[in-house]
Amino acid sequence: MQCNCGFSFAKAVMEESKPGYFPFETFTVICDNDVSEYVKLESQVSATSSLKEVPRRIAAAAKLVGRILICPRCAALHFLTPKTDAYVQYQRMPDKEN
Ligand SMILES: [Zn+2]
Repeated sequence: MQCNCGFSFAKAVMEESKPGYFPFETFTVICDNDVSEYVKLESQVSATSSLKEVPRRIAAAAKLVGRILICPRCAALHFLTPKTDAYVQYQRMPDKEN
């Protein structure tokens, strides 16, 4: 994934990531309407003793999770939407002058 300004998120991850560190800010996003379903699915993951069932339950919960990545060069928001994995880029507007 690459920003309109030319910043490559994948390249930055490959070249600059260390355990527990990303070279840009990311956020996990869950639609407010899906939060209770997400919590229920996550609790089912730890409640099962079936090793075959765990990946299925994790995948079901993960489908409700999206991501926002912020470009460190231009502050554009890159939104990977929950459920559909659609990709939308939002460009930062210039700050208003008072
Ligand atoms: Zn950018």
